[in-house]
Amino acid sequence: MKVFINPGHAPNGNPDPGALNEYLGLRECDIALSIGDLVRRYLVKAVCKVKELQSHNLAGESAGECIVQSANDWQADIFVSIHCNAANTLARGAETLVYSLTGEGAALGRFIQNQLCSTLQKFNNDFPDRGLKCRPLLAVLRGTTMPAVLVETAFIDNDLDALLLMNQQQDIAGAIARGITDYWQKNSREE
Ligand SMILES: [Zn+2]
Repeated sequence: MKVFINPGHAPNGNPDPGALNEYLGLRECDIALSIGDLVRRYLVKAVCKVKELQSHNLAGESAGECIVQSANDWQADIFVSIHCNAANTLARGAETLVYSLTGEGAALGRFIQNQLCSTLQKFNNDFPDRGLKCRPLLAVLRGTTMPAVLVETAFIDNDLDALLLMNQQQDIAGAIARGITDYWQKNSREE
C-alpha cells in the first residue's frame, strides 16, 4: 500500500502558516508536520510505502512541489492531509473532510475518524466526534485520483484541544495510522 501524507500548510516562505494559538505559541504547520512525521513512521513499520510532502502549492496555484500532482504521479493508494481546526476558541473536537459522504474516501474517513475520536476520548472524555464533512471544493480532495481525506485533528485555538495537540501527538498519529490500516485490511478482505 502506498500512502501519501500531506501535513497542512507550510512554514517556509509562506504567508500562511495555518491556524495559530498565539497564547500557547502554536502554529498549525508545525503540529501538522510533527504528526505527519509520526504517522509516516507508524506506516513504514506496518510495511507501507509512504511519501510525505508539506507544501502550499496544493494544485498548481503557487511555486514549490504540487501536492495533488505529486500524489497522482506517484499513484498513491491513499491520500491523507493532516490539519488543525480553528474557530472561536470554544469549538472542540475532530472532524474528517471528504469529497463525498459515500464511496471509498468516506469509508477511509470513517475508519480514521473513529480511531482518532476513541483515542482522544481516553485523554478527555468530552472530546467531541464531529463526524465526516462533505467538502468537494477542497483542492486536495477534488484533484486527487485515489481515496482522499483531510483530517482536522482538533482545534488549535481551544486550549483544551491544544493541550491534546501538544502532548498527545504519538497517540493522534497512531490513531490516524490505525485508521488507514483498518481501511486497507477491510478492502483487501473483500478482494
Ligand atoms: Zn489547515
